[in-house]
Amino acid sequence: MLKTGKRERLELYKDRNTQVLLNKFISGEIGELEPVYDCKLGYRYPVVEAIVGDASEAEAFLNRLYEAGVLERRLYDKIIYCPECGSANISIRYCCPYCKSFDITRSALIEHVKCGYMDVEENFRKGNKLVCPKCHEELKKEDVDYRKAGVWCSCKDCGKSFDIPVTAHFCRDGHTVFTFEDAVIKDVYAYRLREEVKEEAAVGWFLIAPIRDFLVENGFEVESPAFLKGKSGANHMFDIAGYKGTKEKVTVIDLATS
Ligand SMILES: [Zn+2]
Ligand SMILES: [Zn+2]
Ligand SMILES: [Zn+2]
Repeated sequence: MLKTGKRERLELYKDRNTQVLLNKFISGEIGELEPVYDCKLGYRYPVVEAIVGDASEAEAFLNRLYEAGVLERRLYDKIIYCPECGSANISIRYCCPYCKSFDITRSALIEHVKCGYMDVEENFRKGNKLVCPKCHEELKKEDVDYRKAGVWCSCKDCGKSFDIPVTAHFCRDGHTVFTFEDAVIKDVYAYRLREEVKEEAAVGWFLIAPIRDFLVENGFEVESPAFLKGKSGANHMFDIAGYKGTKEKVTVIDLATS
Protein backbone atom coordinates (compact mmCIF):
# COMPACT_ATOMS: atom_id res chain seq x y z
CA MET A 1 0.00 0.00 0.00
CA LEU A 2 1.21 3.45 -0.87
CA LYS A 3 2.18 5.45 2.15
CA THR A 4 3.13 8.65 0.41
CA GLY A 5 0.32 11.10 0.07
CA LYS A 6 -2.04 9.00 2.16
CA ARG A 7 -3.07 12.01 4.18
CA GLU A 8 -3.97 13.93 1.00
CA ARG A 9 -5.78 10.91 -0.36
CA LEU A 10 -7.87 10.48 2.76
CA GLU A 11 -8.77 14.16 2.55
CA LEU A 12 -9.73 13.69 -1.08
CA TYR A 13 -11.91 10.64 -0.37
CA LYS A 14 -14.05 12.87 1.82
CA ASP A 15 -14.73 15.13 -1.12
CA ARG A 16 -18.06 14.47 -2.80
CA ASN A 17 -16.70 15.05 -6.35
CA THR A 18 -13.86 12.60 -5.76
CA GLN A 19 -16.33 10.02 -4.49
CA VAL A 20 -18.52 10.34 -7.57
CA LEU A 21 -15.56 9.94 -9.92
CA LEU A 22 -13.97 7.07 -7.97
CA ASN A 23 -17.30 5.28 -7.84
CA LYS A 24 -17.32 5.28 -11.65
CA PHE A 25 -13.89 3.60 -11.65
CA ILE A 26 -14.66 1.15 -8.84
CA SER A 27 -18.00 0.11 -10.37
CA GLY A 28 -16.29 -0.44 -13.71
CA GLU A 29 -18.28 2.27 -15.51
CA ILE A 30 -14.94 3.80 -16.47
CA GLY A 31 -11.87 1.65 -17.05
CA GLU A 32 -9.69 4.41 -18.39
CA LEU A 33 -10.76 8.03 -18.55
CA GLU A 34 -9.85 9.26 -22.02
CA PRO A 35 -10.07 12.89 -23.09
CA VAL A 36 -12.49 13.86 -25.87
CA TYR A 37 -11.28 16.16 -28.62
CA ASP A 38 -13.04 19.44 -29.21
CA CYS A 39 -11.61 21.45 -32.09
CA LYS A 40 -12.20 24.81 -30.41
CA LEU A 41 -11.10 24.06 -26.87
CA GLY A 42 -8.79 21.12 -27.32
CA TYR A 43 -9.21 18.06 -25.15
CA ARG A 44 -11.93 17.85 -22.53
CA TYR A 45 -13.12 15.35 -19.95
CA PRO A 46 -16.93 15.61 -20.19
CA VAL A 47 -17.50 13.02 -17.42
CA VAL A 48 -15.37 15.09 -15.04
CA GLU A 49 -16.90 18.39 -16.18
CA ALA A 50 -20.33 16.99 -15.32
CA ILE A 51 -19.07 16.15 -11.81
CA VAL A 52 -17.16 19.35 -10.99
CA GLY A 53 -19.67 21.51 -12.84
CA ASP A 54 -17.08 23.71 -14.53
CA ALA A 55 -15.03 22.85 -17.61
CA SER A 56 -12.08 24.94 -16.44
CA GLU A 57 -11.91 23.01 -13.14
CA ALA A 58 -11.78 19.51 -14.65
CA GLU A 59 -8.07 19.40 -15.34
CA ALA A 60 -7.01 20.80 -11.97
CA PHE A 61 -9.29 18.29 -10.28
CA LEU A 62 -7.70 15.36 -12.17
CA ASN A 63 -4.24 16.70 -11.51
CA ARG A 64 -4.90 16.83 -7.77
CA LEU A 65 -5.99 13.19 -7.80
CA TYR A 66 -2.91 12.27 -9.83
CA GLU A 67 -0.51 14.11 -7.54
CA ALA A 68 -1.96 12.50 -4.43
CA GLY A 69 -1.45 9.07 -6.00
CA VAL A 70 -5.14 8.26 -6.47
CA LEU A 71 -5.02 8.20 -10.26
CA GLU A 72 -2.26 7.16 -12.61
CA ARG A 73 -1.94 8.62 -16.06
CA ARG A 74 -0.44 7.88 -19.45
CA LEU A 75 0.42 10.34 -22.18
CA TYR A 76 -2.53 10.19 -24.58
CA ASP A 77 -1.69 12.97 -27.02
CA LYS A 78 0.01 16.32 -27.35
CA ILE A 79 -2.15 19.22 -28.30
CA ILE A 80 -1.03 22.25 -30.25
CA TYR A 81 -2.42 25.69 -29.51
CA CYS A 82 -2.05 28.85 -31.56
CA PRO A 83 0.48 31.19 -29.88
CA GLU A 84 -1.58 34.21 -31.01
CA CYS A 85 -5.16 33.38 -30.01
CA GLY A 86 -4.94 30.11 -28.05
CA SER A 87 -7.20 28.19 -30.42
CA ALA A 88 -6.76 24.42 -30.70
CA ASN A 89 -8.24 24.46 -34.20
CA ILE A 90 -4.87 23.95 -35.85
CA SER A 91 -3.84 22.20 -39.06
CA ILE A 92 -0.46 20.86 -40.04
CA ARG A 93 1.13 22.07 -43.25
CA TYR A 94 3.93 20.26 -45.05
CA CYS A 95 5.98 22.95 -46.76
CA CYS A 96 8.73 23.45 -49.28
CA PRO A 97 12.05 23.86 -47.40
CA TYR A 98 13.20 26.45 -49.99
CA CYS A 99 10.31 28.92 -50.31
CA LYS A 100 8.09 27.69 -47.38
CA SER A 101 5.04 27.31 -49.66
CA PHE A 102 2.62 24.55 -48.61
CA ASP A 103 1.50 24.02 -52.20
CA ILE A 104 3.58 20.90 -52.72
CA THR A 105 2.94 17.51 -54.32
CA ARG A 106 4.09 14.18 -52.97
CA SER A 107 5.01 11.25 -55.21
CA ALA A 108 6.23 7.73 -54.61
CA LEU A 109 9.80 7.19 -55.75
CA ILE A 110 10.33 3.98 -57.74
CA GLU A 111 13.52 2.18 -58.66
CA HIS A 112 13.70 -0.28 -61.56
CA VAL A 113 15.80 -3.04 -60.01
CA LYS A 114 17.30 -4.36 -63.30
CA CYS A 115 18.62 -1.10 -64.75
CA GLY A 116 18.80 0.93 -61.57
CA TYR A 117 16.75 3.84 -62.96
CA MET A 118 14.92 5.82 -60.29
CA ASP A 119 12.11 8.30 -60.78
CA VAL A 120 8.71 9.32 -59.45
CA GLU A 121 5.82 6.91 -60.04
CA GLU A 122 4.06 9.20 -62.55
CA ASN A 123 6.99 8.90 -64.95
CA PHE A 124 6.66 5.08 -64.91
CA ARG A 125 2.88 5.14 -65.50
CA LYS A 126 1.64 4.01 -68.87
CA GLY A 127 -2.14 3.59 -68.57
CA ASN A 128 -2.48 1.10 -65.74
CA LYS A 129 0.98 -0.38 -66.28
CA LEU A 130 4.37 0.65 -64.95
CA VAL A 131 6.99 0.93 -67.68
CA CYS A 132 10.60 2.01 -67.15
CA PRO A 133 11.18 5.31 -69.03
CA LYS A 134 14.86 4.40 -69.51
CA CYS A 135 14.88 0.78 -70.72
CA HIS A 136 11.16 0.51 -71.63
CA GLU A 137 10.70 -2.77 -69.76
CA GLU A 138 7.44 -3.35 -67.95
CA LEU A 139 7.63 -3.54 -64.15
CA LYS A 140 5.23 -6.17 -62.85
CA LYS A 141 6.07 -7.27 -59.36
CA GLU A 142 6.90 -4.98 -56.48
CA ASP A 143 10.11 -6.00 -54.66
CA VAL A 144 11.07 -8.17 -57.65
CA ASP A 145 11.01 -5.86 -60.72
CA TYR A 146 10.91 -2.61 -58.82
CA ARG A 147 11.02 -1.25 -55.30
CA LYS A 148 9.51 1.76 -53.63
CA ALA A 149 12.34 4.04 -52.58
CA GLY A 150 10.51 6.57 -50.42
CA VAL A 151 8.82 9.81 -51.44
CA TRP A 152 9.79 12.74 -53.55
CA CYS A 153 8.12 16.12 -53.24
CA SER A 154 8.00 19.07 -55.57
CA CYS A 155 6.97 22.61 -54.89
CA LYS A 156 4.33 24.05 -57.18
CA ASP A 157 5.47 27.58 -56.33
CA CYS A 158 9.23 27.53 -56.78
CA GLY A 159 9.52 24.27 -58.76
CA LYS A 160 12.23 22.79 -56.54
CA SER A 161 12.21 19.14 -55.44
CA PHE A 162 13.07 17.65 -52.06
CA ASP A 163 12.47 14.52 -50.03
CA ILE A 164 11.54 15.87 -46.58
CA PRO A 165 9.13 18.80 -46.25
CA VAL A 166 9.26 21.20 -43.31
CA THR A 167 6.18 21.46 -41.09
CA ALA A 168 4.24 24.56 -40.22
CA HIS A 169 0.93 25.12 -38.44
CA PHE A 170 -2.09 27.11 -39.53
CA CYS A 171 -4.60 28.51 -37.06
CA ARG A 172 -8.02 28.03 -38.66
CA ASP A 173 -9.54 30.63 -36.34
CA GLY A 174 -7.08 33.52 -36.53
CA HIS A 175 -5.46 32.48 -39.86
CA THR A 176 -1.99 32.75 -38.34
CA VAL A 177 0.82 30.57 -39.66
CA PHE A 178 3.38 29.50 -37.06
CA THR A 179 6.17 26.98 -36.71
CA PHE A 180 7.19 24.35 -34.17
CA GLU A 181 9.34 26.96 -32.40
CA ASP A 182 6.33 29.11 -31.53
CA ALA A 183 3.70 26.39 -31.10
CA VAL A 184 2.20 26.05 -27.63
CA ILE A 185 2.29 22.32 -26.95
CA LYS A 186 0.55 20.66 -24.04
CA ASP A 187 0.59 17.05 -22.82
CA VAL A 188 -2.80 15.40 -22.59
CA TYR A 189 -3.38 12.37 -20.38
CA ALA A 190 -5.72 9.43 -19.98
CA TYR A 191 -6.34 8.45 -16.35
CA ARG A 192 -6.90 5.22 -14.43
CA LEU A 193 -7.55 4.48 -10.80
CA ARG A 194 -4.37 3.10 -9.24
CA GLU A 195 -4.78 -0.57 -8.46
CA GLU A 196 -3.03 0.00 -5.11
CA VAL A 197 -5.57 2.55 -3.88
CA LYS A 198 -8.79 0.81 -4.99
CA GLU A 199 -9.34 -0.78 -1.60
CA GLU A 200 -8.09 2.25 0.30
CA ALA A 201 -10.48 4.47 -1.65
CA ALA A 202 -13.45 2.18 -1.14
CA VAL A 203 -12.74 1.91 2.62
CA GLY A 204 -11.96 5.62 2.73
CA TRP A 205 -15.47 6.66 1.96
CA PHE A 206 -17.68 3.57 2.30
CA LEU A 207 -16.50 2.87 5.84
CA ILE A 208 -14.83 5.92 7.24
CA ALA A 209 -17.49 8.43 6.25
CA PRO A 210 -20.37 6.65 8.08
CA ILE A 211 -18.20 6.03 11.16
CA ARG A 212 -17.22 9.71 11.25
CA ASP A 213 -20.85 10.70 10.95
CA PHE A 214 -21.81 8.29 13.73
CA LEU A 215 -19.15 9.69 16.07
CA VAL A 216 -20.09 13.27 15.27
CA GLU A 217 -23.78 12.53 15.93
CA ASN A 218 -22.77 11.11 19.29
CA GLY A 219 -21.00 14.23 20.39
CA PHE A 220 -17.44 13.36 19.42
CA GLU A 221 -15.02 15.73 17.87
CA VAL A 222 -13.53 13.88 14.95
CA GLU A 223 -10.23 14.02 13.11
CA SER A 224 -9.72 11.91 10.04
CA PRO A 225 -6.98 11.08 9.34
CA ALA A 226 -5.53 11.76 12.78
CA PHE A 227 -1.89 12.03 13.82
CA LEU A 228 -1.31 11.08 17.45
CA LYS A 229 1.86 10.92 19.48
CA GLY A 230 2.59 7.45 20.83
CA LYS A 231 4.56 6.51 23.95
CA SER A 232 7.79 6.60 21.95
CA GLY A 233 7.05 10.17 20.95
CA ALA A 234 6.64 9.24 17.31
CA ASN A 235 3.57 10.31 15.36
CA HIS A 236 1.15 7.59 14.37
CA MET A 237 -1.53 8.00 11.80
CA PHE A 238 -5.02 6.66 12.37
CA ASP A 239 -7.94 6.66 9.98
CA ILE A 240 -10.24 8.24 12.57
CA ALA A 241 -9.77 9.69 16.03
CA GLY A 242 -12.73 10.75 18.16
CA TYR A 243 -12.44 13.06 21.19
CA LYS A 244 -15.01 13.71 23.86
CA GLY A 245 -14.49 16.78 26.02
CA THR A 246 -10.80 16.61 26.80
CA LYS A 247 -8.14 15.34 24.45
CA GLU A 248 -7.11 12.84 27.13
CA LYS A 249 -9.86 10.42 26.16
CA VAL A 250 -9.28 9.40 22.63
CA THR A 251 -11.00 6.74 20.62
CA VAL A 252 -8.99 5.75 17.60
CA ILE A 253 -10.06 3.59 14.76
CA ASP A 254 -7.68 2.28 12.15
CA LEU A 255 -9.14 0.28 9.34
CA ALA A 256 -7.14 -2.60 7.97
CA THR A 257 -5.90 -1.00 4.80
CA SER A 258 -2.70 0.67 5.74
ZN1 LIG B 1 14.82 0.23 -66.54
ZN1 LIG C 1 9.12 26.15 -52.99
ZN1 LIG D 1 -4.95 31.70 -33.71
